[in-house]
Amino acid sequence: MQDQRKAELILGLRNQGIRDMKVLEAMERVPRDLFVAEPFQNRAWADTALPIACGQTISQPYVVAAMTQALDLNDRCKVLEIGTGSGYQTAVLAQLCRRVYTIERYRSLLREAEARFAALKLTNVTSMVGDGSKGWPMQAPFDRIIVTAAAPELPQALIAQLAVGGVMVAPVDVAQGDQEIKRITRSDSGVRVESLMRVRFVPLVEGLPRDA
Ligand code: SAH
Repeated sequence: MQDQRKAELILGLRNQGIRDMKVLEAMERVPRDLFVAEPFQNRAWADTALPIACGQTISQPYVVAAMTQALDLNDRCKVLEIGTGSGYQTAVLAQLCRRVYTIERYRSLLREAEARFAALKLTNVTSMVGDGSKGWPMQAPFDRIIVTAAAPELPQALIAQLAVGGVMVAPVDVAQGDQEIKRITRSDSGVRVESLMRVRFVPLVEGLPRDA
C-alpha cells in the first residue's frame, strides 16, 4: 500500500514539473512515514502538509521538491537549513549534498528529528537548537541556504552567510497571509532575487520558546 502511494506521489511530482531525477530519487528514498505522527500515517505519502508537534507542520512534498530542485545541489555543497521541524526536508537535503547544518527553535522537535537522522544513519547532518534567523556564523559561508519558515522580509543576516556563487531559497511574506518562495543568488556583483511560487508556511519566529 505504502509502495503504491509512494509511486503515485513521485509520479505526481513529475507531472507537476519536478524534473530533477536526483530530487525525485531522494524523495523516493526518504521514508516520509517515519516523519509523520501515528494519526496521520494514512496520509504520510499524500501531497499535503501535515501537523507535527509544537503547532508546526511538515511541508507538502511538492513544496519540498520544488525548493530542493531550486537549490540546484551537488555533492560538494555545504547547506544551512533554518526550521528543522520533523527533519523531513533535512533528510532529503542530506541525500544530495556534502553536509547539512540545521537549526530548530523547539528543542523537543529537534530531539525527535535527531532520532530519525540516527535511525536513517544520516551521518552528514549537524543540528542545533537556536534562533535560525541569525544563521550559523561559526560555520558560514554556506553554498546553499534553505529557510522553511516564512520571514516578513528577505532575511539579510542569512544572505550575508551565503558564499559567492551560493543560492538561497526562502518563503517571504508578500501580502496578508500570502508568501512567495524567493530564490536569492549571490555573485561577485551582488544578489539577484527571483520569485518562484506562492506558498503558505508557518512564520519564522525570532528568539527561543520559553521551554526550549
Ligand atoms: N522543514 C520542516 C518544516 C517545519 S515547519 C519539515 O519538513 O518538517 C518550520 C519550522 O521552523 C518549525 O519547526 C519552527 O519551529 C521552525 N522555526 C521557526 N522560526 C525559527 C527560527 N527563528 N529558528 C529556527 N527554527 C525556526
